[in-house]
Amino acid sequence: MHVVPLPALADNYIWLLHDDEGNAVVVDPGEAAPVESALCARKLTLRAVLLTHHHLDHIGGAARLRDDHRVPVYAPNDERIDIATHRVNDGQTLRLEKPSAQWQVIAVPGHTLSHIVYVGEGVLLCGDTLFSLGCGRLFEGSPAQMLSSLQRIAALPGDTLVCCGHEYTAANARFAQTVEPDNLALQQRADEVARLRAEHRPSVPATLSSELACNPFLRVDSAGVMDWCRRHGAANDPVARFAALRSAKDAFGA
Ligand code: ZN
Ligand code: FE
Repeated sequence: MHVVPLPALADNYIWLLHDDEGNAVVVDPGEAAPVESALCARKLTLRAVLLTHHHLDHIGGAARLRDDHRVPVYAPNDERIDIATHRVNDGQTLRLEKPSAQWQVIAVPGHTLSHIVYVGEGVLLCGDTLFSLGCGRLFEGSPAQMLSSLQRIAALPGDTLVCCGHEYTAANARFAQTVEPDNLALQQRADEVARLRAEHRPSVPATLSSELACNPFLRVDSAGVMDWCRRHGAANDPVARFAALRSAKDAFGA
């Protein structure tokens, strides 16, 4: 399966997945135009649309793609996504014939309450739950819910490619380095991200093992994050440490 991030809107990525026979799937099309151009340029046929959560920057192009290409739209069970043709739930496996693929659906409440991710074919399609070097804001869920969602993701195979919904990595790296200034893997990742962005290339996908080594929101039990939490007066339990990190990031900006 080929995995291609399509830049959309201000800083979104629509993920295009396709096989060698020209069968394509897109994930979180916030707008239709970048998808139409990519299908045309790569001579692909759209077979399905997958959605992770109800925010407009992830679903805004889905109705047009559904109607123009007559394809199913898979989405979490949330009435705010009224354009869905098929609902998928936690624990379910989504199987497609063209392209031949299967993804496991995992519920990840936190950014929104009905947010889901799709895992399979070597990729994690994670919307606004996990970002490279960061995580989504808690618009609807609690810190405990988001931490437990991230812990389910952290248990996936390390070579899984993290395909997230936004190009936030450079700003996330700046915050992460204030938390763990001595994390060498993070320094190297930050340098790589700076290089990629200077060349106007996407900083994602990264592997899950890279995120486990660098992303403070997946490292609440690490010595570096625990030390930062002590200095910032967070209580000594994982949820309190996660909550302290998330509020510090909210105050830090983008
Ligand atoms: Zn969102
Ligand atoms: Fe978003």
